[in-house]
Amino acid sequence: MAAQCMLWQTSPAATELETRVIDWLRQALGLPDGFSGVIQDSASSATLSAVLVMRERALEWTGNRTGLSGQPRLRVYSSDQVHTSVDRAIWVSGIGEENLVRVPTGGRWRSMVPEALEAAIEVDRAAGFLPAGVIACVGGTSVGGTDDIAAVAAIAARQGLYLHVDAAWAGSAMICPEFRHFWSGVEAADSVVFNPHKWLGAQFDCSIHFIRDPGSLIRTLAIKPEYLKTQGADGIVNYSEWTVPLGRRFRALKLWFLLRAHGLEGLREMIRNHVRWSERIASRLAEVPGFEIVTEPMLSLFTFRHQACEEQQMDEHNLALIGAINDDGRVYLTQTRVDGRMAIRFQVGQFETAEADVDMAFDVITGIAARLTAGS
Ligand SMILES: *Cc1c(COP(=O)(O)O)cnc(C)c1O
Repeated sequence: MAAQCMLWQTSPAATELETRVIDWLRQALGLPDGFSGVIQDSASSATLSAVLVMRERALEWTGNRTGLSGQPRLRVYSSDQVHTSVDRAIWVSGIGEENLVRVPTGGRWRSMVPEALEAAIEVDRAAGFLPAGVIACVGGTSVGGTDDIAAVAAIAARQGLYLHVDAAWAGSAMICPEFRHFWSGVEAADSVVFNPHKWLGAQFDCSIHFIRDPGSLIRTLAIKPEYLKTQGADGIVNYSEWTVPLGRRFRALKLWFLLRAHGLEGLREMIRNHVRWSERIASRLAEVPGFEIVTEPMLSLFTFRHQACEEQQMDEHNLALIGAINDDGRVYLTQTRVDGRMAIRFQVGQFETAEADVDMAFDVITGIAARLTAGS
């Protein structure tokens, strides 16, 4: 229908519906009243916008549109578990990848060590850097690495830094109250992104960028040439001022359909099933001789590896196993490195996955592993 959703005036329906469905999702995720939001194409764009706000805020809005030359060196902090969209946002924003400080992680969920985060900020300040913000993650891509948001938020507040939380994948699970412990403290974040196009079943593309102070986004991104001025329209929202792109699609419509068609209870049931089935296949695999669970399920994501005949051939063997599983064509898996060694990622997340599919995946994985071992 080619709706043009840049300004309220070019599509009042798209604007009003966007405000409405974002507020439904805010409530569904248990985020407090103070958050508004905007629908972006991707988490990468939302994180870039958040980093641009960090930059402008740290420079006290003076660097806006004038370039970074002559400014103090900015610093942004995250763990090594964050998605590569964070790396890209740091160099695309001109902050420079050398100014993304990797804070050491620890514990079951590979969380930033709070004391290490605070120490890094203070060391940088003493050395003349300008700390600008922290990017925390909930459900990192590799193994579901998750920061202690409450602890990170307390440090960010104490240090006067902007906090962005990337929950692109895991955020969908927060419609289930029993999973919200994974991001407790999130209400203190300045900015949160999650992708309904990942685990909630929205058609691609659809990423929600929640934000506590939309004024900071508008101050960073809005631009108003004469032809975009809408006369006599004070107090309306022009969502194009909240994002890098000007032109926008009517993404709220598919969210409205998704929520109306399945209801929150239907979506919760899907997510709960995925988590339960992942936990079940992980414990079944753990009992098969030769299989090792490398990282326990974080929601519906875990990693495992299969024992090779010779210890030094483990990585090679597991890569061969993934190749054979994917060539077989019934399931699709990817690999990652955990503490330097290859591991296979398993995750249930597709909208129409049934329990029988997960049982089939177990047969595929164990069957192909047995065949490979017998053949070698
Ligand atoms: C998928 C993912 C991203 C990137 O999302 P896009 O919408 O493809 O940009 C960023 N962070 C996390 C944690 C993700 O899972």
